[in-house]
Amino acid sequence: HADLAMFDAKTAGRNRLRFFAQPLEVSAQEQLKLGAALRTAVAQHELKLVYQPVVCLRTGQVHKCEALIRWHHPERGLVSPAQFIPLAESTGAIRDIGDWVFHEVTRQLQLWQARFGPDFQVSLNVSPLQLAPGAQDVGDWVRALRTAGVAGKSMVVEITESLMVQPEAGIAARLHALREAGVQLAIDDFGTGYSNLNNLSQMDLSFLKVDQSFTRRLGQPGRDHALVEAIVGMARSLGLQVIAEGVETKEQEAVLRELGCDYGQGYLYARPMPAPELERYIARQRAARPDLA
Ligand code: C2E
Ligand code: MG
Ligand code: MG
Ligand code: MG
Repeated sequence: HADLAMFDAKTAGRNRLRFFAQPLEVSAQEQLKLGAALRTAVAQHELKLVYQPVVCLRTGQVHKCEALIRWHHPERGLVSPAQFIPLAESTGAIRDIGDWVFHEVTRQLQLWQARFGPDFQVSLNVSPLQLAPGAQDVGDWVRALRTAGVAGKSMVVEITESLMVQPEAGIAARLHALREAGVQLAIDDFGTGYSNLNNLSQMDLSFLKVDQSFTRRLGQPGRDHALVEAIVGMARSLGLQVIAEGVETKEQEAVLRELGCDYGQGYLYARPMPAPELERYIARQRAARPDLA
């Protein structure tokens, strides 16, 4: 990838670098600038959350959504989290950003719990670094939930498999503290890492999110069908509910339903959207199917 970017920079000029705007491929100077801007992004109110519905494949109900961060850089416009989260992790800004995400979701849940009922859940992505020793006092989060009157079970924390590979005692303790407060845990992007079944089964997870790279190949002939089937079977045996990421076609949805996958999330249903839009989306959905509300 990096070689490709250099090749392109030489042959097509600097502007082509924009196509490869991954953190490591942006020049060191650009990185520094972006990193500095990121440090003030929270204070400058440049961060926003958008929410993507998670749809029950059996009933079509929407009782869940995932919070996804967006950064509106004053000059660059929208910067993708795939770009700035790794940067935030390397500069340490992830701590403030992650804390902001948590409080923003808590605030939103305060409103949505009453509006959409006690079963409504919002998930948020938590970087492994936020749970590293000395980073986040999970006790603060638990207290914040209590102060806001938000039930722990209405929040889902999504963590990636990398946390599972070398489970560190401090991280396990923090996740346990969240579980004690009722917060549910999901393993994100499943299938892209190297977690083993033993670690997975010790985590007290509620959800497993099948990475979109698997979903993408469903509805086409080949082995991937069997792969997702195996993942669903494994999740079942661990007592986890399965969410398929990146559902874009009716064919994929049909296969997922047939394989016994519980939930789907993807452009087939909706793109991530600002909170007021999500409220309208759910209101419309419930008006159309009052039996499911
Ligand atoms: P993720 O947690 O796996 O989130 C799913 C990503 O897939 C999102 O990208 C979402 O917009 C995208 N997506 C949803 N449906 C579809 C679909 O049908 N097709 C395709 N091609 N993509 C779909 P997004 O919002 O750009 O976020 C990228 C990643 O950045 C996230 O992956 C997550 O790892 C990270 N991220 C996002 N928000 C946060 C945050 O608040 N904190 C942390 N630590 N990481 C975050
Ligand atoms: Mg996620
Ligand atoms: Mg994911
Ligand atoms: Mg992902």
